[in-house]
Amino acid sequence: MLYGNRSTMSALSRMTEGNRLAQCFLFYGDKGLGKKTLAKWFAQRLLCSGTGEKPCGVCKNCRTVQKNVHPDVIWVPHSGKLQGFSVETVRDICSQAIVAPNSGDKKLYIFADCDRMDTRAQNILLKIIEEPPAFTYFIFTAGSRQTLLPTVISRLVPFAVSACTEDETLTALRELGWPDADAQEAVAAFHGNIGCCISFLEDDNVKLLVSLTKEVVRCIIDKREYDLLKVFFSVSNDRNSALWLLHDLEMVFRDAVTFRLGQDIPSISCDPVGAGMLAGKLSTAKGQYFHKCIGKAHDAIAANVNLQLVMSALCAELMSGK
Ligand SMILES: [Zn+2]
Repeated sequence: MLYGNRSTMSALSRMTEGNRLAQCFLFYGDKGLGKKTLAKWFAQRLLCSGTGEKPCGVCKNCRTVQKNVHPDVIWVPHSGKLQGFSVETVRDICSQAIVAPNSGDKKLYIFADCDRMDTRAQNILLKIIEEPPAFTYFIFTAGSRQTLLPTVISRLVPFAVSACTEDETLTALRELGWPDADAQEAVAAFHGNIGCCISFLEDDNVKLLVSLTKEVVRCIIDKREYDLLKVFFSVSNDRNSALWLLHDLEMVFRDAVTFRLGQDIPSISCDPVGAGMLAGKLSTAKGQYFHKCIGKAHDAIAANVNLQLVMSALCAELMSGK
């Protein structure tokens, strides 16, 4: 089920009708916003054999796409510690992409989470995405459009996947069977990001990371270096937890900076109260500096730099505060 992003869906629908207008797409936006869900919806829209509105959700194609077992919808496998795409995999895809589909008249390759796709792999893809066979479609998903080479980007039709409203998110979570109080708690932490709300409800570690984020904010405000180090140390054995924590923290600083600038933008962080305190305490320049440091640490961890080193360097930066 896909919530929000109605205008994107109707634009994509138009692009699958009539003369083929586009075959290569990029869906980009924050984690949890539904880029992969949108890719699956697009696959159904493309291959649906129903007669009414597409995707019908009940034909054989729609059902097999839903279960990730359709032979012509290929989720390209990741490899390596950084979960990129190997050169061998990409070469394979390029030679398979020119082979006619198994069952229908179209096939689709989905490269999900492309943020760590290396330059070599991207360069190999250039030729096929420039002139794909008439039956072959490609979808790439990424956190931001800057993570791919400009030469690749120029061959893709980009769509920003955006958050839902909080009301839409509450409705969605209720429809998915979550009790109202739980749904409210999730939306207070992750607003219109349905994927992150669901992670919050299903995974106690995500809940813990929200409370750790709040603790980090208070450590920074009170200049408690030792306590800050303790929190950072607690996630220093788990890359994923560290990435979540820093992502949550980045959002709090983004809130703090927008609060300071007096912009009437709704909170996007899990700790609007802490963001308000930071806004009262830090200059705008310092807030932006901290926001940048956290973003840099996040990218370093994602790029497999030593976790402990990154976290202790970040702690020093947040405490010195140039
Ligand atoms: Zn269908």
